[in-house]
Amino acid sequence: MTAPVLELKNVAKTYRVKQGLFGKPKPLTAVNDVSLTLGRGEVLGLVGESGCGKSTLAKILLGLEAPTSGQVLVDGEEIAGQDRLALARRIQPIFQDPYSSLNPRKTIADIVSLPLRVHGIGDSASRAKSVRETLDLVGLPARVLNTYPSQMSGGQRQRVAIARALIMRPEIVICDEPTSALDVSVQSQILNLLNELREEFGLTYLFISHDLAVVEHLATRVAVMYLGRIVEEAPVAALFDAPRHPYARALLNSVLTPDPAQGVPDTQLGAAYPNPIAPPPGCHFHPRCPFAQDHCKAAAPRSVPVGQGHVKCHLHDPDTPMYRPDFTV
Ligand code: SF4
Repeated sequence: MTAPVLELKNVAKTYRVKQGLFGKPKPLTAVNDVSLTLGRGEVLGLVGESGCGKSTLAKILLGLEAPTSGQVLVDGEEIAGQDRLALARRIQPIFQDPYSSLNPRKTIADIVSLPLRVHGIGDSASRAKSVRETLDLVGLPARVLNTYPSQMSGGQRQRVAIARALIMRPEIVICDEPTSALDVSVQSQILNLLNELREEFGLTYLFISHDLAVVEHLATRVAVMYLGRIVEEAPVAALFDAPRHPYARALLNSVLTPDPAQGVPDTQLGAAYPNPIAPPPGCHFHPRCPFAQDHCKAAAPRSVPVGQGHVKCHLHDPDTPMYRPDFTV
């Protein structure tokens, strides 16, 4: 890996959540002990079911939420306490729904130039030039400058959102389900565009998606998240060829779900996704895991290196009674 551009060290985020009118607030750990490293130009695909903590992690990286514990470093500098504007120059988001993330009352020129104006970069002539160049980069003609989001297609709007994210030339882009609101035919155009821009500018992406086909297409590495923890992390080819964690396997099997319109993978795991306020003891995945044993209910698995990645499962840990060195799921 090249020198890390983004590092997360034991990052956790806990909220106090009230259940019912008179219920006492209880802790909800949305992100739990997450450690990840991204090299420049890498694309880390972050996958998991709804509510697993992916979006909370994205908010922490964007400086919109502070972690309860742990560190986030960009180019070796901790982001805690950094000025939000300074951070926004280095990390920019692209969200799922371009329509709701673009101000409908502003023209495309206003929307794309906004980051430059907020950061006080250039005069109006240089900003206009920069907007035209960035629109060109994302494949939009200059004639859209004075149009409004409502006059554009979904794919064009997402190109505007990408232009707005890139006009500051950030190092890292957090892509939060950037194609899931688009038609399938438009999705591949946007994915190809993101890939081209990454190559041209050496961008680093954290690519959050429930769609494993999309992740396989774009990511260089994949992290699988379950109930706030990363349970497996590996290069994309290694994880798709031979997933080590039973949950990663279930997610991969869900790629061919017969109803893609559901928007989330059908993991066919039987038991429902657990309540994060009262997570199961030991390995949080044990109520849904076909390989669970008593030890899984008693002890939480630690992260162990396996192949080119890391896995949290007792079956891969030589220090547990369940260790099976030849285990594949
Ligand atoms: Fe399944 Fe046990 Fe591994 Fe958890 S630790 S994934 S319950 S086998």
